[in-house]
Amino acid sequence: MSGCPICGKPMDPVLRPFCSKRCADVDLQRWFSGRYVIPGSPDEEGEERQNSEQDPED
Ligand SMILES: [Zn+2]
Repeated sequence: MSGCPICGKPMDPVLRPFCSKRCADVDLQRWFSGRYVIPGSPDEEGEERQNSEQDPED
């Protein structure tokens, strides 16, 4: 399989596997949405945030 997983266009070598920043953002939002709907952890607010998910683009 090749191309952007969001829209199917050829990927940008800088933004791979996405074709654009927009598609990368879409994927990221989907990913976060998936996390947030995971049930069973009502008190996540007490957790300390870890820095393991920093955006490489800063
Ligand atoms: Zn795309």
